[in-house]
Amino acid sequence: MTERYYRVLRIKLIIMALCFSLIPLLALGVTIYYLFSAAYSERILGALRTLAQNRARAVELFLDERCSQLVTVAHSHPLSHLSDESHLARIFTVMQSRSTSLIDIGVIDDRGNHLAYVGPYYDKLKGVNYAHEGWFLAVMSTGLYVSDVFLGFRGVPHFVIAVAAQEGTRTWILRATINSEVVENIVRGGMVGKTGDAFIINTSNVLQTAPRFSGHLLGRPAAPNFSSSVDTRVEEVDYRGVKSLYATARVKQPKWILVIKEDPKEGMASLFRARHVGGGILAIGALLVIAGAILTTRSITGEMIRVERERAKSDQLMVQSSKMTALGKMAAGVAHEINNPLQVISEQAGWMKDLLSKSDEASFSNLGEFQECIGTIERHVDRCRTITHRLLRFGRRMEPTQELSDVNQLLAETITFLENEALSREIRIETSYSDRLPRITSDPAQLQQIFLNILINAIDAIGKSGSIRVATRCDSNRPREIVIEVSDTGPGIPRDLVGRIFDPFFTTKAPDQGVGLGLAICHSIVEKLGGQISVASTEQTGAVFTIRLPVV
Ligand code: ADP
Repeated sequence: MTERYYRVLRIKLIIMALCFSLIPLLALGVTIYYLFSAAYSERILGALRTLAQNRARAVELFLDERCSQLVTVAHSHPLSHLSDESHLARIFTVMQSRSTSLIDIGVIDDRGNHLAYVGPYYDKLKGVNYAHEGWFLAVMSTGLYVSDVFLGFRGVPHFVIAVAAQEGTRTWILRATINSEVVENIVRGGMVGKTGDAFIINTSNVLQTAPRFSGHLLGRPAAPNFSSSVDTRVEEVDYRGVKSLYATARVKQPKWILVIKEDPKEGMASLFRARHVGGGILAIGALLVIAGAILTTRSITGEMIRVERERAKSDQLMVQSSKMTALGKMAAGVAHEINNPLQVISEQAGWMKDLLSKSDEASFSNLGEFQECIGTIERHVDRCRTITHRLLRFGRRMEPTQELSDVNQLLAETITFLENEALSREIRIETSYSDRLPRITSDPAQLQQIFLNILINAIDAIGKSGSIRVATRCDSNRPREIVIEVSDTGPGIPRDLVGRIFDPFFTTKAPDQGVGLGLAICHSIVEKLGGQISVASTEQTGAVFTIRLPVV
């Protein structure tokens, strides 16, 4: 399988893992956030609505109490009594004993004449006639009237509660001025947070209490016009580019509207905080999921690659060893077949030699040359016999064995296989064998395969002209091991590739010259034999392969 295949597989696995974990995580996060923010907004808006309702009810309650107080006084005292200012002053003092919410009190007859007055504006108000005043006309027709805030004869903003009483055929009015600060204090209870505001407007959108920030009593509020608002409402309104939450509630008598304004950022601060914390947790969760998906996928594909390589390696080893076994059998067969004719040639040559030895030079011309030829035939037959013996030995060794092996001899034999190749490439093979090298119990065929691979690599690395040194020695520090060193004068192995040369299929050679299995096989065989193989390389001095084998 190619690297590309595993890269694509890894990306696919990561995408799948992310889809199955991130999408539910995000969906859960977003759903929880929206449900939470909807519930939270509803709670905030509900709280604002309740606050407005409560403040409006408190104002109503306050005014109702003042109205009943006046109604009680008006209906429980005769006009003659109340028209007496000293008497009225006593009643006023009693009325004020529990709360100082009234500024003054006065009695007016049905023609608008101020009959009696107790309060701080005595000089201004004592003699005035209210016959043409709006509140006077209203109370005469309705019996009880609570006015809006107005300036009146005193020229100071105030509002009044007036009660009409009947005495015989005569109607008269008891009127009290309300301290609007008390109403303002009630309204102020609705100011929420650092920027919140609360005020009352009348049906003409005129301020009946002073707002906290902009606007003044009897002016216009710096807010949308809620004067026609009928019921309790909460809404977010953009007023002159600033978004605010507004809650309005109606005060029944007089027809006032209480307005509470709140900065949504303040009201929703906890929600925004929760959003940030939730977003942070979600982001950390997503990062962990991504990291987890990448790490898990990497480890899975890494394991797959490892297993795949192991399988390929063992497949190749099997192919290689079965090839070598077949080659060994073939070599043994060929050697055996050639041995018989060689035997015949050798016998015939010996026979000819015997015959020639009985002839004399006089009767046999060229006898000397014939004898020389027979000698040459015998020498070459001997050489062939050596080769066939070697081939037979090689063939026998293809089967895995455990024999007492002489490593020096095995190396020398292996080198003879490559001598011609080395010669043609002007490569000298120097040997330095230790005479004290103990024989080891191992598989000679496999050892030869290791030496062959390393020597072929060294010849390939040098290319043309150079030298290879093959040395064996004992290590005094490790007496149970022998050491074989093969060094060459080739270009060496680049530092970044040193760690990869024993990997299966790692090669720097052209596809028709190398498959990258030689060293992998060497590594695997050496390990199986209980030894170690390592490489040291500098780009200037070539490569040095060191094999350590146990002396068993
Ligand atoms: P192959 O010979 O088919 O390339 P090997 O496993 O035998 O496979 O070698 C792997 C690689 O190690 C070679 O392609 C080469 O790059 C590097 N190598 C092996 N021996 C030597 C050496 N003596 N000098 C430099 N490079 C070497």
